Amino acid sequence: SAEIAPETLTDGFHLLIDALKLNGVETIYNVPGIPITDLGRYAQAQGLRVLSFRHEQHAGYAAAAAGFLTKKPGICMTVSAPGFLNGLTALAHATTNCWPMILISGSSEREIVDLQRGDYEEMDQLAIARPHAKAAYRILHAQDIGLGVARAIRAALTGRPGGVYLDVPGALLGQVMDAVEGEKSLIKVVDPNPASVPAPEAIDRAVELLSKAKKPLIIIGKGAAYAQADDKVRELVETLGFPYLPMSMAKGLLPDTHPQCASAARSLVLKESDCVFLIGARLNWLLSHGEGKAWGEKGSKTFVQIDIEPTEMDSNQKISAPLIGDVGSVATALLEKIGSNWQKPDESWTGAVREKVEGNVAKMAPRLKNNNSPMDYQGSLGVIKDLISENPDVVLVNEGANALDQCRSIVDIHKPRKRLDVGTWGIMGIGMGSAVAAAVETGNQVLAVEGDSAFGFCGMEVETICRYNLPVCIVIMNNNGIYRGDGENWGGGDDPSTTVFVKDSRYDMMMQAFGGVGLTVDNPDALRQAVKEAFASRKPTLINAVIAEGAGKESGNIGNLNPSSVVAQQ
Ligand code: ADP
Ligand code: MG
Repeated sequence: SAEIAPETLTDGFHLLIDALKLNGVETIYNVPGIPITDLGRYAQAQGLRVLSFRHEQHAGYAAAAAGFLTKKPGICMTVSAPGFLNGLTALAHATTNCWPMILISGSSEREIVDLQRGDYEEMDQLAIARPHAKAAYRILHAQDIGLGVARAIRAALTGRPGGVYLDVPGALLGQVMDAVEGEKSLIKVVDPNPASVPAPEAIDRAVELLSKAKKPLIIIGKGAAYAQADDKVRELVETLGFPYLPMSMAKGLLPDTHPQCASAARSLVLKESDCVFLIGARLNWLLSHGEGKAWGEKGSKTFVQIDIEPTEMDSNQKISAPLIGDVGSVATALLEKIGSNWQKPDESWTGAVREKVEGNVAKMAPRLKNNNSPMDYQGSLGVIKDLISENPDVVLVNEGANALDQCRSIVDIHKPRKRLDVGTWGIMGIGMGSAVAAAVETGNQVLAVEGDSAFGFCGMEVETICRYNLPVCIVIMNNNGIYRGDGENWGGGDDPSTTVFVKDSRYDMMMQAFGGVGLTVDNPDALRQAVKEAFASRKPTLINAVIAEGAGKESGNIGNLNPSSVVAQQ
């Protein structure tokens, strides 16, 4: 009111920004529009880095990836209704992957929405977000902003991390209150990610089982990568001396070239092992639920599992020794219990695994050296493998079907959290958001290996990459289509097949349109040269890599997930 001098006041805009800054937030992944346009501008004015995207899904995927990389909630900001729904896909993705993220979305006024009077972008966003998030909150009063932000941060981080929705009705941002009172209302969250220490009995039980195993196997998942207990995990794996399999985003936690790495003997170790020790990995579809042909004889395995989420235990198989706690605390406790007199598994097991690994690697090596034009996956990814091993700090982003499966198995990762991919859902379209987050959060060079189809879900964000001049090199594995580029219309009509794109597309010209470097290459030597130049210049670069149309297979390695019937098809 008129008698109060404005300088003694603060408002919802500033309280929200102050609350985020107080809790260490530095970056916001944003798409502006009503009612949050000025929120982004004020945040920039207050020293936050605000990166605006072209579509909310990719701002959200960036926030999710930032959460995985930094162990702090990635923040995404969206407009109401459609913008919110676009961002919600990424929030659900973060929750599914157990990554901390906060989606802050503007919304329209409760008075109108709740009576369904038909507002601009009217939607009951809180109700829609709730089932897709770990937690969902709405702030109605400026004096509650501190509380709302604190609850969102704690919910995103504590225990199993996940996505949190924070609903911010437009009117909240304009509300004013006394500046001193406002500052006092903010909460700096103390210890949002407390250590979760396992019970001593649980440690005894696990060590007892692990010590009895004749053919033990460790599976390391992205929960272990997220935990940032890299040295402890490595010490545990090396002390135990078990062969290990890294799940795709746990690659590099120990280097893929480590002598205990059994990736190239995956079938053998899954089938033959008698005791499987899961470290921050779930027995979900990615591990065929711990059953079926790949897992050998039914009932042949004992499972030991580390997870921060107690209810993860027995979700697919009986867990004989659950270790509830964070990876760092559990690894520390196990190492203390084991001490210095651990008997490593017999050479008859580890030697057989090693022999299989070496045989398979040797068999693959010559195929990775071909210089075919157009390229196949082996020749092109053989080049990427070399370049990543020469530049181990590069963050590799990877999505597609064959582009994903082949790259995951061919390209070794040498350091922790240097691989970002499609995650638990196995989705398409995470590439550009992840690439932006990787560049912004780590400052490192990023290499995104993208199927042409996967790139199509997020390609407009090349403009974002150019606008912020990020060191991102995108390689499009262009085989003219989804899975393959040589499909035909099953109905014989004039339309192309449902799974092919325009032939010989020049994705590199998209990058040129925004001032980045765009190149087409059709052989591995040229690909090597182009990526090397991108790494040296750190300029936004898109390399359109011409792959043979017939290279690749239906759905990559997961074709078995397609429904089929006995009724004849094509
Ligand atoms: P992957 O796909 O690599 O197998 P998942 O996402 O399936 O990995 O599993 C990761 C698991 O790690 C989740 O069950 C999650 O609860 C758990 N987790 C996340 N953070 C931690 C942590 N700090 N300590 C222990 N477990 C964690
Ligand atoms: Mg393709």
